[in-house]
Amino acid sequence: MADRFDLAVIGSGPGGYVAAIRAAQLGRKVAVIEEDRPGGVCLNWGCIPSKALLSGAALVENLRSHGETFGVVAGELRLDYSKVQAHSRKVADRFAKGVMSLFKKNQIEFVAGRGRIAGPTTIEVKGATERTIEADHILLATGSVEWAPPGITVDGERVLTSREALAVTSVPEKIVVIGAGAVGIEFAYVWAMYGAKVTIVEMAPQMLPGADPELAQVLQREFRRKNIEVKVGTRFEELKVNGSGVRVAVSGEKGSAELEADQVLVAIGRRAKSADLGLDAAGVELDPKGFVKVDPALRTTAPTVSAIGDVAGGALLAHKASEEGVAAVEFHAGLKRGPVDPHHIPACIYAEPQVAWIGLTEAEARAKYGDDVKVGRFPFTASGKAVASAHSAGFAKIVAEPKYGQIVGAHLIGAGATELIAELGLAMTLEATTTEVGDTAHAHPTLAEAIKEAALAAEGRGINF
Ligand SMILES: Cc1cc2nc3c(=O)[nH]c(=O)nc-3n(C[C@H](O)[C@H](O)[C@H](O)COP(=O)(O)OP(=O)(O)OC[C@H]3O[C@@H](n4cnc5c(N)ncnc54)[C@H](O)[C@@H]3O)c2cc1C
Repeated sequence: MADRFDLAVIGSGPGGYVAAIRAAQLGRKVAVIEEDRPGGVCLNWGCIPSKALLSGAALVENLRSHGETFGVVAGELRLDYSKVQAHSRKVADRFAKGVMSLFKKNQIEFVAGRGRIAGPTTIEVKGATERTIEADHILLATGSVEWAPPGITVDGERVLTSREALAVTSVPEKIVVIGAGAVGIEFAYVWAMYGAKVTIVEMAPQMLPGADPELAQVLQREFRRKNIEVKVGTRFEELKVNGSGVRVAVSGEKGSAELEADQVLVAIGRRAKSADLGLDAAGVELDPKGFVKVDPALRTTAPTVSAIGDVAGGALLAHKASEEGVAAVEFHAGLKRGPVDPHHIPACIYAEPQVAWIGLTEAEARAKYGDDVKVGRFPFTASGKAVASAHSAGFAKIVAEPKYGQIVGAHLIGAGATELIAELGLAMTLEATTTEVGDTAHAHPTLAEAIKEAALAAEGRGINF
């Protein structure tokens, strides 16, 4: 006989596990089906382990570039990448276990195995567990997988995606990174700080395609200063693997070239994990790119099935998955709430300098509100805290609509950017104006003063710049 639940979640990433907990809080009987480790890509093969590596890289850079300034002369640094890699795996393990204890605490049943929809309210589980689960509500939270274009065979030795990259225990001499999005940038930074000669190849005319071009300009300049070669407007053409390494053929405005390296990281995107889930059985439709189609309440085209996180498309970010997880469950429970606003989802890159943005770019705001949009900037070279800590590259930029000065976007690059963006997220949730943020006392000296100053600058009231 099938086990009955109010909610069955397929996938235990930051979308699925958070949704399960919220449903349990609302008194639902919940099962979570997971074919891999609890915590999904984020906790095991994404956000968390990569941030452990990035912390190591930032420490190396601080000692190497700024140690002397602060009278810390460490001599020649001896770097052992296997140690930071081991730390990153340990942190991932700890958080995967943490998800299991949250399930226990909230009386959520964890079902190990691969889930496949067999009908509008039925899931067949195969693998570690063989079980049939019946649930009034099914939540698809199956995430996404690494993608490599045709012609590239990922072998885990010479050719890596982020998954294999998190498992390598040594840094090669030379590496080519294809793609200057978040994943490519973060690995490029880590490996460069641990001694590799890194070349980034990006087809778009700027790093971070789609982000505010001013952010990309500063990032590119800073990466070049760190001896990371950045080739934008450069198309990947072909990859050849031989005994001793890889040859990456690229083309751009300046013609064609072949780059030689020990390894190549393919970081050009991810695909929805929506295949072989039995979606037809429930009447769940996909968009042309394979993402599950959802409405603003995260309902799919099947009345009993919702979808959240990476598999539902939009920004492929953990916090977006979590927000949607809570929203999907609350909508289903009939709670009064609004949809998750994609413009209120911050995006962060955790290399140095850090990059973070939210809402509209300046160009998007001008297209929407006209040329009177208010833009305020504040460079970290004018921030006492940034200069004192020897991290003065970058700026804070705030974009506001012209009528009330309501903040509609913010773009930060520099020290602490990934933490500072939270203030702008809150400002946007509260529909705050540049006057309100500019008139808020910010502790001195803090990096956060840059936010206040950028808000004041948008009104022509900047003090320190
Ligand atoms: C290297 C890297 C770094 C990243 N860093 C960040 C970051 O710093 N910040 C950020 O916000 N985002 C980051 N991301 C993106 C983030 O990891 C994803 O957006 C997030 O994990 C998506 O969450 P999810 O719950 O939708 O899916 P996932 O985390 O992908 O989880 C889906 C789960 O479903 C399981 N599953 C799939 N199909 C089935 C099935 N049929 N049966 C049972 N189980 C199934 C999978 O095994 C997986 O555990 C990073 C990604 C990568 C690759």
